[in-house]
Formats: sequence, structure tokens, C-alpha cells
Amino acid sequence: MKIFPVAHPLLKRFDRWAGPALAGLALGLLLLETTRPLRRRTRPRTERWVRNVLLAAPSLPAMRLTLLPAMVGLTQLAGPRRMAHQAGRLPAPLRLALEVLLLDYLGYTWHRLLHSPLLWRLHRVHHCDLDMDLTTAWRFHFGEMLASIPYRAGLPAVLGVRPATVLAYEVVFEAFTAFQHSNWRLPIALERQLAPWLMTPRLHGIHHSMVHRETQSNYGIVLMLWDWLHRTRRLDVPQQAITIGVPALADPAAQTAGQLLALPLAPLEPWARPDGSEPQPTPAPTPPQVLAA
Ligand SMILES: [Zn+2]
Repeated sequence: MKIFPVAHPLLKRFDRWAGPALAGLALGLLLLETTRPLRRRTRPRTERWVRNVLLAAPSLPAMRLTLLPAMVGLTQLAGPRRMAHQAGRLPAPLRLALEVLLLDYLGYTWHRLLHSPLLWRLHRVHHCDLDMDLTTAWRFHFGEMLASIPYRAGLPAVLGVRPATVLAYEVVFEAFTAFQHSNWRLPIALERQLAPWLMTPRLHGIHHSMVHRETQSNYGIVLMLWDWLHRTRRLDVPQQAITIGVPALADPAAQTAGQLLALPLAPLEPWARPDGSEPQPTPAPTPPQVLAA
């Protein structure tokens, strides 16, 4: 059995079904965020899109050729082990529900780890985008994909998750990543209904704020349950009050694709603008509003 079975039948199925489905979703979100934008743009779209596509060019193949095969390879290798054997005794729907909850919780905790000093070196490449839209969902340093393998493929294997579940959840993970980064203005009433349960574009917009305490919130991938349990859920920031980005990395001239690829090697910056000032939160609206426009 291989650790990276690139051409495994499950991955071939992923390419045949999930690939086109995710591409269709992306096209739909692109149309929606263009016709119903949520936040005002601060930078020309082409400037950011070119950079984001150049970053995706190595990171999407890195995901398909290393992370996804490792998810299948490692969970297959660990299949006969004790945890998987114990999990196999559970009723099928219960086992599936537990696997999905576990994978979503691992997504939340991995995202929190990405904000720790060591991994922030990689993750800040994603966060220093100066606007957020669908293309931000692909703007990851390829090193972040490689670094995620032990956590996002190794841990599910150790904990007895099956290869098909881990890959099926990955489709949902990618779909929500695209959805939460899109600049689509959902009807506010609908988003207020969804927000207690699922990660939405307004909630994730708060996570990409330049205000530190706002960045340290809304880490979830699909479910808001984990942010609620860990008290990292934040609902009260109006979208137009948000400045997207990282304060020390706000100079667009210093964000060429080459500079962004080399960014993990640069020293860690303090959470402040180059002049030393720190972005301050906008006072909460009174009366308090959930997810104001
Ligand atoms: Zn983040």
C-alpha cells in the first residue's frame, strides 16, 4: 500500500465528479459576487486575481498530488488498526456522523494552529490579500498544503476515519472554503438564519479583518459549533467597517507573486501598521446588530 496513491480509484472518482462540481460552484459564486457584491473593493481586481492565480498554480497541484493522496493512503494504511476496528462496531449512520464531526473539528483546530507563530509564516500569505473574494479561497502558499498533511491526513487515519469519508468531507471542505471567501451579499435575513450554524461570507469576512481580535474569531470551516464552544464566534462587526488584510503587509507593491512565495522566510511582523499604530475595532452598533451589512 502506498502513502501517496495519486491514481487511487477514489481519487479518480474525485477528479471525475468533485472537480467539475467544485468548478461549477466556483463559477456560480463568481457570478453572484459580481452581481451582488458584499464589501467594497479597495484594489483593482486584476492586480489581485493575477497574484492569487499565480499562488494557486503550485498550491492546487500540491493539494491534488500530496494532501488528497495522503488522506486516502494514510487512512487505508491505518484501516485495520484498533481505532478503526472499534469504530467499525458502531451503527453505520452514527459512525459517519462522528467521522464528519471529527473532520470538521480537525479543520477548526488546524485553522487555529495556522494562526500560531510558526504556521502564521505560511498562513499570512492567505490573510494579507487586501480584498476578499472567491480567488482568496485558492490563495494559499503551497507550503501550507504540505504542512497540513500530518494533521489533516495523519490524524483522521490514527482516529479510524475511512478513506471515502475523508475524501467526501474534503469536497464539502473545499465547497465551504469557496463559499465563505466569496464576496457574495446574501440577503441579510437569510445569513442571520444561517450564521448560528454554518460559516458564511460575512462571518469569514470578520476573520479576515485587520483588527487583531476580529482575526482571532470565526475559524470554523463548515459548522459554527466549534467557534461557539471555544468562544471564538463573533457576529457583531458590520461588513463595511472591516478592512481586509494584515496591517504590516498592507503595501500592495510588496505583494508580487515572488514576494508572497518568499514570505514564509521573512521575519514575523508585529500586528501593527508600518507606522506602529494598530487598527482599532469600530464601536459595536447600538442596539447590537447581528451581522450588519
Ligand atoms: Zn485564518
